[in-house]
Amino acid sequence: MANSTLPYRGRFAPSPTGPLHLGSLFTALASFLQARSLNGKWLVRIDDLDPLRCKAHFSKQILTTLENYGLHWDEGVVHQSKRSSAYQNALEILSRQNLTYDCVCSRKQLEERYTGESRLTYDGYCLKNPATASKASAIRIKVGQNTIQLNDLTQGAVSQNLSDKVGDFIVLRKDKAFAYHLAVAVDDNDQNISEVLRGIDLLDSTPRQVYLQQRLELKTPAYAHIPVLVDSHHAKLSKQTFAADASEMPINATLIKLLHYLQLSPPVDLVSSPKHDILSWAIEHWQLDNLKKRTSIVVSTH
Ligand code: GLU
Repeated sequence: MANSTLPYRGRFAPSPTGPLHLGSLFTALASFLQARSLNGKWLVRIDDLDPLRCKAHFSKQILTTLENYGLHWDEGVVHQSKRSSAYQNALEILSRQNLTYDCVCSRKQLEERYTGESRLTYDGYCLKNPATASKASAIRIKVGQNTIQLNDLTQGAVSQNLSDKVGDFIVLRKDKAFAYHLAVAVDDNDQNISEVLRGIDLLDSTPRQVYLQQRLELKTPAYAHIPVLVDSHHAKLSKQTFAADASEMPINATLIKLLHYLQLSPPVDLVSSPKHDILSWAIEHWQLDNLKKRTSIVVSTH
């Protein structure tokens, strides 16, 4: 569990699949304020594992947008695309513990076999029917009967039985890209992240990451899953919902708007101050507890 005597190290880890939109900027700002208000470090990591969906020009654009909003990070930016040997090493550690196996199931086969309970739960088919080596295969990790429990700083107690909820999950994809959960568990450890503050949409995947940390004997950071911004139809702002590019918005007004979404009440005239003064005010008034138990915040359209 997190050790409160360690210096605070937080991070923002965008996937460069598009420009930074308001929803991601909201999370970035929250993690920045949390780190700065605790006199900690704030790191930025680019989660560009998926070569098909991630583009280098989006990474650059995201970093420029963060800088334009005054969200300056500490230390060099880590790119997951350059960390394959660390992930490979982790995979080998899991394999030496006899925790992994090849899986050749296609999405179509998985869908045909599901009986309706949870579409996410893998049925262990390739564990019971070992695949022939010649086929393109993914690698899954056995989850056994582990129930992962954690105390999220914002959402409270979380408990997930991995075999009920997800089953043996993928750590190396068929296209040989390392899976997100493996990469994040390894990176958060290697970057000495003391607290992961991110959107609640990722809360469900946290027990898988904690499980990997346990099997790999890595540190488990503290977790704070904050609400996500949603539109008036309650859809999470995302690339899929055509959320607007934050680089095209007025910086000060957008920062002030986000502070309101973060449940702060900045003075009205702060909007005409330099952005660094807006951020200083926010660091001084920031309270993670204001977001406790909230799962979404509806954005206003004006
Ligand atoms: N890269 C992930 C995303 O953009 C976030 C990873 C994380 O914060 O752990 O959704």
